[in-house]
Amino acid sequence: MNEADSEDIAAAFRRRGYSLTDDLKKADAVVVNTCTVRQRAEDKAISQIGRLRVWKEKKPEGKIFVVGCAAQKLGEKNIKGRFGFVDEVVGAKSIERFEDSLIAQLGPTPESETAHQNLFRSPRTAYVTIMRGCSLGCSYCIVPAVRGPAVFLSPEAVLADAADKLAAGAQEIVLLGQTVNSYKHGRTTFSELLKKALALPGLERLRFMSPHPLYFDKAFLELLAAEPRLARYIHLPVQSGSDRILKLMRRGYTRGQYLELIGRLRASAPGLAVSTDFIVGYPGETEKDFEDTLTLVREGRFSLAYCFKYSPRTDKPEMATDIGEAEMEARLEKLLAAVKENSRLVLDERIGKIVEVLFETENYGRSSENFAVRVKAGGTPGKTASVQITGAAKNTLNGKLL
Ligand code: SAM
Ligand code: SF4
Repeated sequence: MNEADSEDIAAAFRRRGYSLTDDLKKADAVVVNTCTVRQRAEDKAISQIGRLRVWKEKKPEGKIFVVGCAAQKLGEKNIKGRFGFVDEVVGAKSIERFEDSLIAQLGPTPESETAHQNLFRSPRTAYVTIMRGCSLGCSYCIVPAVRGPAVFLSPEAVLADAADKLAAGAQEIVLLGQTVNSYKHGRTTFSELLKKALALPGLERLRFMSPHPLYFDKAFLELLAAEPRLARYIHLPVQSGSDRILKLMRRGYTRGQYLELIGRLRASAPGLAVSTDFIVGYPGETEKDFEDTLTLVREGRFSLAYCFKYSPRTDKPEMATDIGEAEMEARLEKLLAAVKENSRLVLDERIGKIVEVLFETENYGRSSENFAVRVKAGGTPGKTASVQITGAAKNTLNGKLL
């Protein structure tokens, strides 16, 4: 979601004739887009802002914008109080009004037309936000506080944004939201929105992120089974393998229900790759709870898992005994090793299989399952083709074009 906001901010600059640089010496303006999901991210943002003091001293006419979730949490007064050289603070709740701040700081320059261009992903992939905020209340999470309750964009706005990005050269669209599959606007459900997006000209592949286990329904499973351009990859954060911890986290499902759901998803789309997020060291997590998470790695057959150490963000969590930093670190290491070993197995399972690859260059692309795939040559950039997998290297599949 932060990456998508950064893309939108970059586009706002481009429309004013600015271009991007990662060389501070050349920059006329700097935007620090901050995250606060974990304390470490917030600390990083703060030190990044601190480092800009010298830049501003050398270039007093240069503008500094601090935006995003940590900006929302800490507040303008606090940030400007600590860093008097910051020109503008735009919190995550008002990020869509960033353009107004730009005009306030830089003046209304005539708009110049620029093509869609990506900061983070391949130019063939574009993010399209379909909802902002989140209305769930996971005990550990700061997102609802800094981004506000869920607000769904209208299907017209979503489709217009996607169509613009496809017309500008994207072939793959990623629909974004914190509980993206809970989408509901008037009578339009998530599955209906997907169907409308799939009808847009030029779309080769449709992805979405992040769905929540509570919101997949029959209509979605049927669409997944029927529509091969809907990616065979779902990132479905589980957080823990222990029912006790899931309950404390207020996730709304059990381990068994989660496993049953990914079973149904895989039955609808054979070969579907599933990745996840885990939090280790939630307050009160016992050895047994942690073991349950370790065993879930293998049982879930996740292609990938992002593992985080619990970071206290809210004052709510029922502060049972903290397991301590050393134990937290040890559990994280163990979990990362299990995830790595499992990913290897999942990659090896793909050898001999045929996958659909959207090519970025002649010899490199991403499969529908989100694996990086290399072929010797012959891919057509921007087009999808079938590839038979011949081997698995580190996080990458090798194959031959069919
Ligand atoms: N909305 C998504 C969901 O519920 O599945 C997740 C969004 S959250 C911004 C991304 C990930 O950050 C979560 O899946 C979780 O693993 C991690 N995370 C969130 N709060 C955390 C915390 N307090 N400490 C550690 N990790 C956290
Ligand atoms: Fe946070 Fe995701 Fe839970 Fe919403 S659903 S509170 S964003 S972890």
